[in-house]
Amino acid sequence: MRPDILNLLFTPVTAVGGVGPKLGKLVGRFCGEKISDVLWHLPVGVNYRPQITDAAQVKIGEYATFQMKILAHKVPPTKKVPYRIIGEALGREVEIVFFNYHKSYLGRQYPEGKSIWVSGRVEPNGFGFKIIHPDYMAGVSQGIPEYEVIYPQTRGVSSKLIRKIISTALPVLPELPEWLDSTFQAKHGLPFWKNAVDQVHHPKSGGDLMPTHSARMRLAYDEILANQLALLLVRAQNKKAVGQVIQGTGQKVQELRKSLPFTLTGAQERVLIEIQRDMESKERMTRLLQGDVGSGKTIVALIAMITAVEAGVQSALMAPTDILARQHFDKISKLCAPLGITVGLLTGREKGSARREILERLENGEIQILIGTHALFTDMVTFKNLGLAIVDEQHKFGVHQRLNLVKKEKGVNLLVMTATPIPRSLALTVYGDMDVSRLDEKPVGRKPIETRVMSQDKIPELIERLKAKTETGGVQAYWICPLVEESEAADLMAVKKRFEILKQTFGERVGLVHGKMKGPEKDAVMTRFANGDLDVLVATTVIEVGVDVKNATIMIIEQAERFGLAGLHQLRGRVGRGSDASQCILVHGKKLTETAKKRLNIMRETDDGFVLAEEDLKLRGAGELLGARQSGLIEFKMADPTVQNELLWVATKDAQTILSLDPNLVSERGKALRVLLYLFQKDQELQTLKAG
Ligand code: ADP
Ligand code: MG
Repeated sequence: MRPDILNLLFTPVTAVGGVGPKLGKLVGRFCGEKISDVLWHLPVGVNYRPQITDAAQVKIGEYATFQMKILAHKVPPTKKVPYRIIGEALGREVEIVFFNYHKSYLGRQYPEGKSIWVSGRVEPNGFGFKIIHPDYMAGVSQGIPEYEVIYPQTRGVSSKLIRKIISTALPVLPELPEWLDSTFQAKHGLPFWKNAVDQVHHPKSGGDLMPTHSARMRLAYDEILANQLALLLVRAQNKKAVGQVIQGTGQKVQELRKSLPFTLTGAQERVLIEIQRDMESKERMTRLLQGDVGSGKTIVALIAMITAVEAGVQSALMAPTDILARQHFDKISKLCAPLGITVGLLTGREKGSARREILERLENGEIQILIGTHALFTDMVTFKNLGLAIVDEQHKFGVHQRLNLVKKEKGVNLLVMTATPIPRSLALTVYGDMDVSRLDEKPVGRKPIETRVMSQDKIPELIERLKAKTETGGVQAYWICPLVEESEAADLMAVKKRFEILKQTFGERVGLVHGKMKGPEKDAVMTRFANGDLDVLVATTVIEVGVDVKNATIMIIEQAERFGLAGLHQLRGRVGRGSDASQCILVHGKKLTETAKKRLNIMRETDDGFVLAEEDLKLRGAGELLGARQSGLIEFKMADPTVQNELLWVATKDAQTILSLDPNLVSERGKALRVLLYLFQKDQELQTLKAG
């Protein structure tokens, strides 16, 4: 189990004096509840507060720290008047001004004649100077730090509180065994772990806050290395795991192919061969199928499942949402019915006797292909002989979920499909435990989507044009408004308001769906849109994941600047599915940053998801991580793959070398690396060493 040497780092923050359960909870929500979580919460700024001994050194408008002798209190008659403490410092008169104050506290704490340290921003005041609400006032023996470290803060969790937790932890930090290769460490001038932690929390200038600073690089490297090593451990275990051998006759697949109105693309054929080879082998398949929206992943999945049916085993396809599960079910059961294959649907909405019946038919093997949501594998669902599990992932079907699935369904071949095109380097950190297939070719005959960028001032004209088009052309449109957790209430209001405005033009032919609506309610609206009873569907990003409506050829995205390229690309992929030309209109707000402008322009230039993903990584800056956060892909606390991209490759290489030399991590370095893995809570991945 976890080595004792890490105990301090895994101690809850409530162990720090003055941090009670309530505060602990707030810290937990913001940074994490362990000491290490707070240590990984890196500073974003530093204030230099030089101690000043000569009045000539005082610079108006800057921070100054000096000793002051208290001369007098000017106690105001009412709370409306500020409270002033008059003192003498550096041979000048100094005024300390308080607008918010407790009279009695100030009187008690700072009696006349006492000398104290004061620190704050200096403002002019006659011949002397004043400080309004000093940042610090402290006893002479206590002192004030020269460098004040600033942490990201939130309501209830101040920078000061974080500073307190960190300054309690730093002096008792353990010395951990070195897990870096010494040559590598020396070559890059990386400090030892304990030093690095200490250094990142003691910045002296802006340069010390840069992700390229050696201490930050060290910690980022550690974090990435732990991640890569963990994934490779899982991969090694996968490679050893015995899987069910699935060998189809090809008969039903042949029939299916004949019934399709198209022939498969070269990429689809190639990927199918890769999948088939995996299924036929004794090793369990753990494969990722990466393919842009519209690249035709579903049919690939279906052929794999029909192959399983031919071989006499069951398969399951899991979609990220109820809506998508239903859509898959409708399409797939239509294609399967003529082949005499039984398809079942199980989501959170199948309840009571209907649910029991499905579960029964699943257990007795009558249902050959089951379609449902991810919940399938957390619930008590028993298959007769599950041989193939396919996960059509939305965003987060992470390595732990994959591990749990594989643990529960032993020997089951696993295929994960993703439409989130992510840069190759990041793919390594997310999917490093799997073999990868890429669908890098779109079905022929697709008309390109014309993409336009426009300002929100033009919305009234846009509505006019849209009205004309829907009336004469029989086309339908999506109208997307962003909804982000952090500003949920305001966003929800905005989307409802947009709906009301559009109603004035479209009346009953506009619908609204958003994430706060109940499933059946959402379904009803979606169904009306799919049936053509609605011209316009106003939506938050619930439709992001794969809904297919062929007449919908217009995609309008409001506040497009708030989305990452990946997110915009996913949304745009909802149109252009039929043979008609489609349009995507990116509507932006008035204030547009340079990066946002570039991003919208790139959207106009290319519709290749992989190209966009690489560009997204290059363009993303602090504060523009919406796409990344939404996709839930970037989980690092210290490493910033947008800046430290190079480290990803190096760490992956390093991890590969380590495991090829010491697959069980028993060497000196191997043992140290175990500590690293525990440090980053890769316990579950480490378990694979014993299990394997
Ligand atoms: P995604 O990869 O986004 O899941 P889908 O599997 O939903 O894409 O496919 C998008 C559309 O393209 C579907 O309507 C599907 O029937 C169609 N399609 C799939 N493969 C081909 C092909 N080889 N040629 C033409 N159309 C295809
Ligand atoms: Mg799909």
